[in-house]
Amino acid sequence: MHKQNPVSGLVDKAPRTKAPECCEPAMRSEVPGERSVLLRPGVTIPDWSVVEDASARMTLSAIFELTGVGRRKWSRLGEAEDRVWRSVIELFAEFGRAPLSAEIAEATRLPHDVVADALTKLGARDVVVLDDAGRIVGAYPFTEWPSGHRVRLRGTTLTAMCAIDALGVGAMFSTDTDIESSCRYCGTAIRVNTRAAGTVLANTEPTTAIVWAGLHYAGGCSATSLCTVLAFFCSEEHLAAWRAGASAGRSGHCLSMNEALQVGKAIFMPILRATAEGHGTALA
Ligand SMILES: [Zn+2]
Repeated sequence: MHKQNPVSGLVDKAPRTKAPECCEPAMRSEVPGERSVLLRPGVTIPDWSVVEDASARMTLSAIFELTGVGRRKWSRLGEAEDRVWRSVIELFAEFGRAPLSAEIAEATRLPHDVVADALTKLGARDVVVLDDAGRIVGAYPFTEWPSGHRVRLRGTTLTAMCAIDALGVGAMFSTDTDIESSCRYCGTAIRVNTRAAGTVLANTEPTTAIVWAGLHYAGGCSATSLCTVLAFFCSEEHLAAWRAGASAGRSGHCLSMNEALQVGKAIFMPILRATAEGHGTALA
């Protein structure tokens, strides 16, 4: 039976595929409430319309609950904050590194003090990660530290914060991507290619590769907690072996590559969207 969601206005659909067997039974019993935040006029985040499968839906809800992202991260963005945020991500992708404050000021045509103020606020929201000197070192989905998740985007190789972020990059930029990572347990190379402007899986090697969405959040920073347990594994067996010895992130959701792609798309596609026009969404 289809159910109208009071928040998103979308219709909850029955799952199309069975979740992998390794998911925690308790986590699979029900679908938590789906919430979204108005990011800017006509654009809500996450975009539930791209989440087709039950496991992806539950994972996204769990991440939302865990990090309080709706309240703290995305709500009531100031206009300058929003412009600076988008510019940081676009310049990160263009340069293959975090942009400098002066480069953001030039790109946005905002005064330096306005850019500096916006970066401080974006850092407090944990959408941009700053070092002690106030320099940008990460902006989800990208980071400057070696996470082990590399994404080839428009000829530039970038590092993604985590497996979900790596999968979300293509759809965020409407571009096909090549992702290179490794099994968190054994180090076996894992390669994922996207097509259809980054929205569809083209190829996954090995074909048994999965994503673990571990639930661990600390210190108000996803990059140093949640992202460390959103990882690729070469097989369900190696995920189970890793979980047996893991100190954090042992609870969570096991996702097929396609389910993980849905979670990445739902989070990252809205971020660079100027308006909802032309995107077929009725969430405005
Ligand atoms: Zn492995």
